Amino acid sequence: MRADLHTHSTCSDGTGSPAEVVAEATAAELDLIALTDHDTADGWAEAQAAGRRHGVQVLTGIEISTERDRDSLHLLGYLVDPRASQLAGEMEQARNSRVGRAQAMVERLAADYPITWAQVQEQIGADTTTIGRPHIADAMVAAGIFTSRDEAFATALHSRSPYLVHHYAPDVAVAVRAVRAAGGVPVLAHGLATRQKRQLDEALFEELVDAGLAGVEVAHRDHDPAAQALLARWAHRHGLIVTGGSDYHGTGKQNRLGENLTEPEMVRRIEDAARPAGTGG
Ligand code: AMP
Ligand code: FE
Ligand code: FE
Ligand code: ZN
Repeated sequence: MRADLHTHSTCSDGTGSPAEVVAEATAAELDLIALTDHDTADGWAEAQAAGRRHGVQVLTGIEISTERDRDSLHLLGYLVDPRASQLAGEMEQARNSRVGRAQAMVERLAADYPITWAQVQEQIGADTTTIGRPHIADAMVAAGIFTSRDEAFATALHSRSPYLVHHYAPDVAVAVRAVRAAGGVPVLAHGLATRQKRQLDEALFEELVDAGLAGVEVAHRDHDPAAQALLARWAHRHGLIVTGGSDYHGTGKQNRLGENLTEPEMVRRIEDAARPAGTGG
């Protein structure tokens, strides 16, 4: 079984609709994908319907924007009940905060680049519920300022950029507990990616394990072999699940669907670790 556990659609910052991502998964000869849009479950129903048509299994997931000491970290939550009150509240707060944050970033950028909020709004699709830096990047590309999202991120939108504005996000340990409370399976996404401001360290890893972390994403293009080996060692110490995923964003990023995969045994462990909605505890 070929399983890619990390993909994005137009519901957040991917460029393909949930159904398109599933259709592309067929072309990439995947048997299973997890749709893991940022801070929203809005794409699940469409992806699952497309999955039934194409014979691709769709595992439900979200990628939660979290932080530690104001530095962003991403947490994957598989098989969560998105209506669970704490998790739903945290994601709603993050989504709402992202709107004002994007506007504030555009205000800062406008001092140096010819860009307006209206131009960013034009880049936001009707089905987009989570707004982020990639939509600002798209507007700057459309305005001819940059040639690609990559160039926009390398130049003006990276994680240490003076134009960066903070948005609300729950603390990463709080989010791990919220995913568990929602019956889901928390897996830290790309924890050692050097392009993010904060990398996982051993103390934080141990803290997250105590909070209920179930797994770590090891196979990801932002992890070099040394990072993958270290994460695998930490995971092994606690018998955690290890996953891999492409972090596919359609044409918005170079990541190709299926470029990193998750072992079938680990998919089964995620399914076993989830608690069906409404079973309490
Ligand atoms: P935000 O959550 O609004 O702070 O934006 C971060 C998002 O931008 C992440 O989810 C990444 O997927 C995306 N991103 C980061 N770097 C790039 C890049 N070079 N090209 C396209 N998207 C990127
Ligand atoms: Fe993204
Ligand atoms: Fe991420
Ligand atoms: Zn992602």
